[in-house]
Amino acid sequence: MADGDRIVIVGAGVGGLRAAERLREIGFDGELVLVGDEPRRPYHRPAVSKQLVMGAARPADVTLKAYRDLDAHWRLGTRATHLDTLERVVYLPGGESLWYDGLVLATGVHPRHLPGSPRHDPRVRVLRTVDDALAVRRCLAASTRPAVVIGGGLIGNELAASLRHLGRDVTLVGHARAPLHRFGERVANSVVALHDEHRAKLAMRSEVRHWISTKDTVGLHLTTNQLLVASVVVLAIGSVPQVDWLRGSGLDVSDGVLCEPTLFAEGADDVVAAGDLARWPNLRFDERPRRVEHWINAVESARAAAENLMAGRSSAKPFTPLPRAWSTLYDVRLQMAGLPTLGEDTVGLADGVTGFVRGGELVGVCAWDRPRAMLGWTAELARRLPAPADAPTGAVPLQPRPAVPSGPWATAAAG
Ligand code: NAP
Repeated sequence: MADGDRIVIVGAGVGGLRAAERLREIGFDGELVLVGDEPRRPYHRPAVSKQLVMGAARPADVTLKAYRDLDAHWRLGTRATHLDTLERVVYLPGGESLWYDGLVLATGVHPRHLPGSPRHDPRVRVLRTVDDALAVRRCLAASTRPAVVIGGGLIGNELAASLRHLGRDVTLVGHARAPLHRFGERVANSVVALHDEHRAKLAMRSEVRHWISTKDTVGLHLTTNQLLVASVVVLAIGSVPQVDWLRGSGLDVSDGVLCEPTLFAEGADDVVAAGDLARWPNLRFDERPRRVEHWINAVESARAAAENLMAGRSSAKPFTPLPRAWSTLYDVRLQMAGLPTLGEDTVGLADGVTGFVRGGELVGVCAWDRPRAMLGWTAELARRLPAPADAPTGAVPLQPRPAVPSGPWATAAAG
């Protein structure tokens, strides 16, 4: 990248923000434009299912601070509509075009839809954004009736715990045998016991057969024949990459954006991807591209993508992190390292610490309220799964930018 170049970052979440910071840190002094579909600056998304939904924090409290002056143009409340990688243009609503020399894709994911659910009913919600959390709070304020959460993953469990913290009657509906079963039997059993202790109800091995919306409540008839009546129903059944705007761009968007080990999008010399959106082979594990939907990965991949974009495709280094994540349920800390979902078997490593094994090799660790032990096991996992040497992967260098006229983006407020 040279003086006068422009880097566009599409996605103004934590990934977009940290990519922008890293670009400035390592000396990019051209134009920086951040495009985000939400109307607000990047914020601490883990607070959505906890502090924000509980009312313990206001939206302004969770705004992320940039670690340095970004001197960036922010295009918030603006959803990119299309990408032309040959002309190097991002299209915005109204046909506005934004040329780039380098592009960072960080549009993340959006919540998965549950077929048959009445999403037109304002009491049936999803939970990903600040606005989603505020909408759930409005539903809770409108009625003291029970709440229902569908989905036994991280958001579902965190939200159920938050609702119990508020003293609300809540039932967690999941189609698996136990919540968080992907983290092994020990974690699943501990989660069940913890919900039981806090009087959160579980309706596992069940799905919704019928929805019955009335003036006062939403009714759910489950496949187990149980009937639930709710003031609010939150769908937390996973997420889907935000790639609609990338269709037709030539990039492989079959599950997020397919990337090389360096986070360069396959087939593009000047496009990198980061965060939940990037599907790349983490050579620390194997050569199979995967996405990782956790906060720390968004931060680390954004920084690595920014460095590689600046270095150019031929000098870029593989991104080989040891993924780490955490969750808090009531006052219990759940921590993960590596890729537990790759495990074919589990092994008890210590009290509260589960190892995930593939082909006799430790590939992941999960700890239930054992932060000190987790420090040691994370280091051990890193030792057993060393990152391959940071050799450049070898590819063609950046090509000169074609002359594409800029759109009226330049009127955006600088920040
Ligand atoms: P998730 O963790 O992938 O969990 C989705 C859950 O919904 C799974 O338990 C799944 O069951 C269940 N499910 C799927 N379809 C269902 C259906 N039709 N009926 C009932 N249950 C169904 O997704 P999430 O909780 O929605 O979170 C979204 C993403 O954000 C995830 O990738 C998550 O890792 C990430 N996140 C991370 C953190 C963190 O790092 N602390 C916190 C929150 C969210 P099966 O497991 O049986 O498929």
